[in-house]
Amino acid sequence: MGERIAFKEMAAFRPVTPGYALMPFRFARLPGRQEVLLTNEVGEFAFVADADLRALVAGTLDRGAPAYDELASRHFLAEGNPGAVTRMLAAKYRTRKSALRGGPALHLFVTSLRCDHSCAYCQVSRQSPDKSRYDMSPATARAAVDRMFEVASPALTVEFQGGEPLLAFDRIRQVTDLVLERNQAEKRDVSFVVTSTLHQLDAGMLAFFRQHGFKLSTSLDGPAWLHDANRPTPGRDGHARTLAGIALAREWLGDAQVAALTTLTRRSLDHPEAIVDHYVENSFRSVFLRPLSPYGFAVRAERRIGYGTADFLAFYRRAFAHILRLNREGTRIDEAYAAILLTHILSPFPTGYVDLRSPAGAGLGVLVYNYDGSVYASDEGRMLAEMGDTTFRLGSVHQPWQELAGSDAMATILGAGVAEALPGCADCAFLPYCGADPVHALATQGDPVGHRPTSAHCAKHTGIFQMLFDYLADGDPGTMRTFLSWVTHQDRDSLAGGAC
Ligand code: SF4
Repeated sequence: MGERIAFKEMAAFRPVTPGYALMPFRFARLPGRQEVLLTNEVGEFAFVADADLRALVAGTLDRGAPAYDELASRHFLAEGNPGAVTRMLAAKYRTRKSALRGGPALHLFVTSLRCDHSCAYCQVSRQSPDKSRYDMSPATARAAVDRMFEVASPALTVEFQGGEPLLAFDRIRQVTDLVLERNQAEKRDVSFVVTSTLHQLDAGMLAFFRQHGFKLSTSLDGPAWLHDANRPTPGRDGHARTLAGIALAREWLGDAQVAALTTLTRRSLDHPEAIVDHYVENSFRSVFLRPLSPYGFAVRAERRIGYGTADFLAFYRRAFAHILRLNREGTRIDEAYAAILLTHILSPFPTGYVDLRSPAGAGLGVLVYNYDGSVYASDEGRMLAEMGDTTFRLGSVHQPWQELAGSDAMATILGAGVAEALPGCADCAFLPYCGADPVHALATQGDPVGHRPTSAHCAKHTGIFQMLFDYLADGDPGTMRTFLSWVTHQDRDSLAGGAC
C-alpha cells in the first residue's frame, strides 16, 4: 500500500466540541501532495491541509476556517446533534449499495468453449470440432433460464460467452427465445449481450441480434501487428477479420451497440499511444485497457507475456495522459475502467459493473452457467475451475437458486467478499470506490481473504486511485469537464460484455 497511511476515525459521532460532532471518515496522504485526502462511507471526499485535519479531529477547527464549510457540507462533521446527518448518510449508503437489491442481474451463458483463436492469454477456449464435448446442451440451456428467473432482480442482462459463442448460435437463439417467452409473464427489464471475436457473424445472426436489441462486445488489442501477435488465428488474419466484423455489426446494429476491449500483454506495454490511437482511428469512443488476468493459459504463458503491476501502472499513466490530451484537442474518448472508477468517486449511484464491488459481485451480482451444467459465482470462478480449483462452483444448473445461494461457495464469498471487513481495506481511504475480489485473492495468494500489502489487485487499484485523485486535486478545468462527461454520458451497460 506504499506511502498511504489510512486511519478510520473511531471517535465517530462523538461531539468533540460544543460546536460539532465528528462523523466517520478515513484519510490518506498521497505521494507528492501536501493536502490530505479525506473520504467517508458514502464516497464523499475532500482535500484539506494537514493542520485542518488535526484541528478537525481535535475538535478545534474554527468555524471561520475555509475547510469548515466544505467538511460540513460533505458530512465529515455535523453541527449540533448528528442524528439528522446520520440519517442522511444512511440514505446515501443505501443508494450506493442498491445493486444488492434483487440479487444477480448479470447472467452469463457459456454456450461453447470452442474457438479457432489460440490467444496466449485465453483462460478457457478449446480448439475442437467435437460439439457435444464443449457445447451447452439444450437441456442445460433450459435449466439455466429457469435458474435465472428464480432470481428476483427486476433487470436481467443475458450475456453469451465462450470460447466463441457464435459457434453455438443455435443455443443463443434457443436461450433468447426461452427468455423472451418466459418474460411475457415475468415482465423483467431484459437485455442481451454477446462477447465474440465477431469472425463468424453472418446476415442471419445480425438480423436476429437487431430484432432483439443485442449489444456485441469484442476484443481489439491494437494495430494489426500487435493484435495478430496476441491473438493468433490459423489464417493469420485475425485483426482484419475483427475489423470487418465490427464494421458489419455497426452497419446492422448501430455504433452504440458495438464495444471493444484490449487485453495487454508485455508487448503492448511500450505502445500506449498506438493502442489508444487505433481505437480513435476505428471510431471508438471508449477503450478499456485491461491487464492480464491471473487465470488459465495466461498463467502458463506468464514468463513470455506477463509483467508486474508497476509496469502496468507506468503504461496506464502514459495512456491516460494521452487520452486526456486527445480530449483537450476535441476527440472524445474515455478509458472505460477510469470512467467506472470516476463514477464511483463522483456519482452517488452504483454502476452496473460487477468486478469491483463490496460485497463482491461474484454470486451477488453475477451468475455463470457453464456449457457443462455447472453454475459459478463469476467468470473468473469458472476459469479457476478450468485450472482445477472449484471453490467458486455453486453447484449444478439443475439445483434451485435457493440451494445454490446456500452453497459453501457462496459462504466463502460472503466471508471474504466484504471489503469493509477485510484487513487493509477496512482502513483504506479508497474503500468507498473499490471492491473485494475473493476469486483473484484465492488465485494469486492462495486464500480468498488475501493480503493487501502484497496483493496485485490492491497495488493496481491503489495506483489508479492515486492517479485519479491527483488529477482531481489539481482540478484543471479541462480535465474536470472531461471526467464529468465520462461520468454523465457513459452507457455502463455496454460494459456488461467482456473480452473473448
Ligand atoms: S483493495 Fe482497494 S480498498 Fe482494499 S486496500 Fe487496496 S485500494 Fe484499498
